[in-house]
Amino acid sequence: MPAPDLLSRPEGWGFNRVTLMLGGLVLLVGVIPLVAALVLFQLHSQTEVEKAEIAAHRMATLLMRSFEQAVEPIDALLQNFASGHDTTAAPYQIYEQLKDFNVPASLVQLAVTDKNGVMVATSLAPPGPEKVDLSDREHIRVHMGKDPAKGQLFISKPVLGRVSKKYTIQLTRPLTDAHGEFAGVVVASYAISDFIDFYKQLRIEDGELIALMGTDGIARARATNKTSFGDDVSTSPAFIAAMQQGGGTYRQASTIDGVERVGYTVRSGKYPILVSVAYSTDFVRAQTADFKAAIWSTAAGLSIALLVVVAVGGSYLNLQKRLEAQEVQALARQREAKVLDAISRVPGVSVMHVTPDGATEIGSPPDGALGCLLRTYLGSRRFRTLVEDLSEPRHINEHLSDGETDIEAEIVVAPLQGMDRGGLGVQEVVVVAVDQTQRRMEENKLYQMSKLASLGEVATGLAHEINQPLGVIRLAASNALTGMKMGLPPEHLVSKLDRIVQQTVRMSRIIDHMRIFGRKSDEHLQPSGPLDAVEGALQVVGAHLRLDNVEVRTTQGPDIPKVLCRQDQLEQVLINLVQNARDAIVERRARSGQDFPGLIHLSIGSEPGKAGRVLRIRVEDNGGGIPDDVRERIFQPFFTTKPPGKGTGLGLSVSFGIIRDHGGALSVENGAGGAVFTIELPALEEEQAAKAV
Ligand code: ADP
Repeated sequence: MPAPDLLSRPEGWGFNRVTLMLGGLVLLVGVIPLVAALVLFQLHSQTEVEKAEIAAHRMATLLMRSFEQAVEPIDALLQNFASGHDTTAAPYQIYEQLKDFNVPASLVQLAVTDKNGVMVATSLAPPGPEKVDLSDREHIRVHMGKDPAKGQLFISKPVLGRVSKKYTIQLTRPLTDAHGEFAGVVVASYAISDFIDFYKQLRIEDGELIALMGTDGIARARATNKTSFGDDVSTSPAFIAAMQQGGGTYRQASTIDGVERVGYTVRSGKYPILVSVAYSTDFVRAQTADFKAAIWSTAAGLSIALLVVVAVGGSYLNLQKRLEAQEVQALARQREAKVLDAISRVPGVSVMHVTPDGATEIGSPPDGALGCLLRTYLGSRRFRTLVEDLSEPRHINEHLSDGETDIEAEIVVAPLQGMDRGGLGVQEVVVVAVDQTQRRMEENKLYQMSKLASLGEVATGLAHEINQPLGVIRLAASNALTGMKMGLPPEHLVSKLDRIVQQTVRMSRIIDHMRIFGRKSDEHLQPSGPLDAVEGALQVVGAHLRLDNVEVRTTQGPDIPKVLCRQDQLEQVLINLVQNARDAIVERRARSGQDFPGLIHLSIGSEPGKAGRVLRIRVEDNGGGIPDDVRERIFQPFFTTKPPGKGTGLGLSVSFGIIRDHGGALSVENGAGGAVFTIELPALEEEQAAKAV
């Protein structure tokens, strides 16, 4: 069961959460204050516009009232004059009459014309001989030929007075004779510039407008940053608004000077006059500038404050998370320690915690030997190289020895995940070692058994091998006997006896070999020629192979070196490999139903390797090879694909151990026709071999 990973975090946690938090942060710190500020601006500038409209309305009403109040006494005066006027009076009398009126200062003059529009008298000077014809003037013409009873007060466009040289507007009413017929016009010339001066005193701002307009669309007086009289304003929004709706607010660019304004126009109820007051929208907006600055700084301040709150909150959360993680780590360490302690109590098990500072035994040491040897191993270069790039737990078998005690240990090295790595290069790891010496001994027994099993298997072949020379001996002996009885010459006997000797030599060689093969493996390594081992192995299994129609072909390179080994063990390995090759061929034949000729190719050669020359023995067959999933496991003890009673699963694992114990390597690959096993052993240099003998 895999160990519970106490330190892992749910996956996919980081990215979404971080994106969400960042989004929230931007919203909180940036968007909310910005939106709030924009909404406030909008509301505020709307309020400013509304305020400007109200102010314009109020001002226009006041100005209209003041204009009406200025006109009312003049009109009363004109009506008064008209009602008491005697059309038959001489001009000088009229002049006297005019003078008797208390003419207000705002009036430049009071004048009277006859029914033809010719001036009769003016309050400015006594009547002279020359005739001033005013019949072309609109304020006179407007009354001529009309019913004087319906004559209203007429307020003219501003004109530059011919006599007064001042801008005036003429307020006129018709005069009637005793029969009620039109008899002339009474004219009051009002100095409109007074009005303008008054407007100016109201401090006209840049872009502000005050306009006094007639319902005819002509400005009587217009004050912006310059003053004008008599302009045609019939297309202006102020005029159109007033004429269409009887007065009211407007927000438009002026057709006269192009300035966009917010304004209000009031229409007089008594006179054909409109008054308009307007403020430029730029001016209105400018009123919000301070407010805007204040809002911006408040929004910025709010953002900064929120940022600080978020930062403080974030670091607090981080701290909390770190503390939590530390707590989890500590808990995990405790649990791990407990689990490891429990494991260390199992007999024959030693658990070590290895850091760059050294190895510490966890739990109570068992009998000490395993711990001691393990500690030495953990300090070795071999172990440090193993640990350098370790990311997954590793399982290894090690032969631990101090010269006196030998322990076969099965070791698991596991890096501590989630923990801080101490130091560079070397990780923090846990090492669990199990003493497998006992099991190995059992295995060794099995190995012996497997050897016996092999022997049993080859017995048939051996019987055949021995039977043949025995037959030859028997025949030679009986021939010799017959020869002697027949008194044949001694040469005959010698040749037969020679034959017998030859055959016994051959037999003793086979039997000698069986002895080598059968003895217990406790002898020392000796320099031996690999070709002897190959020959020996083939002697044991050769007959069997021939019976199975499997050809063995041997090739050898030049200068085959000797190796330091126990010949019987090397033979045992070769026998295993050759028997496996034969089994594979036989199996393939059975599977395919084709009785193809079997071939096992043994090639022996040597090559220079990293640490000196290497002897290489390749055993290649045409048995079809080993499937990938099987190949990974063939060196494991007891792994077999053969039917029960046939395979033990020990051959390759034992072979692997033997070659490894000789400082070499046994490897496998698939060749063109089948499996290729390669034995590599360090070669003995010639002088070493000579010394060792
Ligand atoms: P056994 O021969 O008793 O099964 P081994 O350890 O010698 O045990 O071999 C293990 C397994 O390796 C065999 O069962 C077989 O599946 C496979 N094997 C070994 N040699 C060969 C070979 N030359 N060709 C195909 N498979 C092989």
